[in-house]
Amino acid sequence: MQSFEHFVHCNECLSFPSNGTKIYFTTCGHLYCDRCVNSGVLNDSICKNCRQKCGHTLLSANLKPQTLQYFEDDVYFLQKYEKIRNFQKKQTELYLKHSRIEVLHSFLSV
Ligand SMILES: [Zn+2]
Ligand SMILES: [Zn+2]
Repeated sequence: MQSFEHFVHCNECLSFPSNGTKIYFTTCGHLYCDRCVNSGVLNDSICKNCRQKCGHTLLSANLKPQTLQYFEDDVYFLQKYEKIRNFQKKQTELYLKHSRIEVLHSFLSV
């Protein structure tokens, strides 16, 4: 959550989330503050930015994980990705090493 302020801003008036400013996240991927929502950026559920029909939820720590992940530290995701990649690489190497030994064994036992 500490990276919130780096990029979370109202796409209409550029306000940042603060005690007085709530930010809403739309299903079309835009962010608006409560003042802009109240003044009509989402009138008739049409996003002013992209003209798509959308829903919106208040941005808070209680969001669903699939929504919240957009606001997590991207470094964390890179590390997670790196871990997965290393794991798969290691497994592949183990397999290759093992299969090479198998091949060698079957070659020697002929
Ligand atoms: Zn705004
Ligand atoms: Zn939009």
